Amino acid sequence: MKELPKKNIAILGSTGSIGTQALEVIRAQPELFAVEILAAKSNADLLIRQAKEFNPNCVVIGDNDKYKIVADELQPAGIKVFSGEDSLSEVVQMETVDLVLAAIVGYAGLKSTLSAIEAGKQIALANKETLVVAGELVTKKAKEKGVNIYPVDSEHSAIFQCLAGEFHNKIEKIYLTASGGPFRGKTKNELEHVTREQALKHPNWEMGAKITIDSATLMNKGLEVIEAHWLFNVKPDMIDVIIHPQSIIHSMVQFEDGSIKAQMGLPDMKLPIHYAFGFPYRFKTEFPRFNFQKYPSLTFEQPDIKSFRSLGLAYDVLKTGGNSPCILNAANEIAVEAFLKNKIGFLRIPDLIEFCLNNVPFIQHPTYSDFVETDRETRRIAGENVIPGDPH
Ligand code: NAD
Ligand code: MG
Repeated sequence: MKELPKKNIAILGSTGSIGTQALEVIRAQPELFAVEILAAKSNADLLIRQAKEFNPNCVVIGDNDKYKIVADELQPAGIKVFSGEDSLSEVVQMETVDLVLAAIVGYAGLKSTLSAIEAGKQIALANKETLVVAGELVTKKAKEKGVNIYPVDSEHSAIFQCLAGEFHNKIEKIYLTASGGPFRGKTKNELEHVTREQALKHPNWEMGAKITIDSATLMNKGLEVIEAHWLFNVKPDMIDVIIHPQSIIHSMVQFEDGSIKAQMGLPDMKLPIHYAFGFPYRFKTEFPRFNFQKYPSLTFEQPDIKSFRSLGLAYDVLKTGGNSPCILNAANEIAVEAFLKNKIGFLRIPDLIEFCLNNVPFIQHPTYSDFVETDRETRRIAGENVIPGDPH
């Protein structure tokens, strides 16, 4: 393969689960990738260590109170330091940035991702909430600016890989695989009493706290259905969720001739991150290889949408459209935070989301400022309705 120019990457959310794994990918392939920007919310110590190792052009710390600590450490080394959300949206537009890894968690990732798209930057997208909240706006803007959005979410990376070379062939169905999370097989009664600690123990993946809880409620898969709709332009009834507890098949595409393509591999987010960074090339890696002897059976089952209501709610808002996915997302973020603080029980999460969907005003054709207002209003209503009682 001919020698390629190095890609200069902005890592937004560098101290998180995806961010740190992205830096592992870059550390292993310094001839291909370089770090141009590092950004995180409040973990100043780790951000400083990362900057000293990867020597980016600039870093952004979200938390203004931590600005001085970071600046004192990094400015003498010639690294520019900024703080706050607005700075982040500005630096992602720098001419020297080739690709932006959107790996901030939640709604907080929307603004900087939109800003990067506005400046024509290629996007490696981990922050699925961006597409859940404002999928139409984001994909329209990306098309207008000639921006490719490379999925980092393992399921969507799998679908993207299955679609390589198939651009003229119609998709009949997408099968999104789900591990089922730590509570697979539990009845609604049993779910009433599960704890935060149990919910945080994911069987196959080590991830940030928010997405780990989303995996336990199956909201993560619901958000991914919405994400798939926008990335691959498929109708909700063409997207099926299938529980596959081993997490080896990362998702599948069925074409009009009935043939199904699947993408497989060990559950390791470095693979989809690496694919998004390297596209259209596959570079050699030293990641552990899959061993068939260790997985004598790969199994599949239907999701239990009666017990795990969040998945059904996500399909509902996708069909309703407008600002309802934005309401679902904001209510979910507040509910998950309340569950993580032991303020509400596990089954109250979908209850709170449903309450918000019924009480926040619906807007059929929301603008960006409508999303900002919907997110704010939903957080207010959800916050008022987090009633600390018996958490379990
Ligand atoms: P995490 O909680 O481990 O990390 C989140 C990162 O975002 C941290 O670096 C944090 O500092 C930063 N951040 C949060 N709020 C911010 C703000 N306001 N300003 C600047 N930085 C901010 O989360 P994660 O598990 O790495 O997930 C990140 C995103 O990737 C999520 O949208 C998640 O759904 C998606 N994703 C994660 C995985 C995974 O394996 N972890 C897999 C697929 C998709
Ligand atoms: Mg996923």
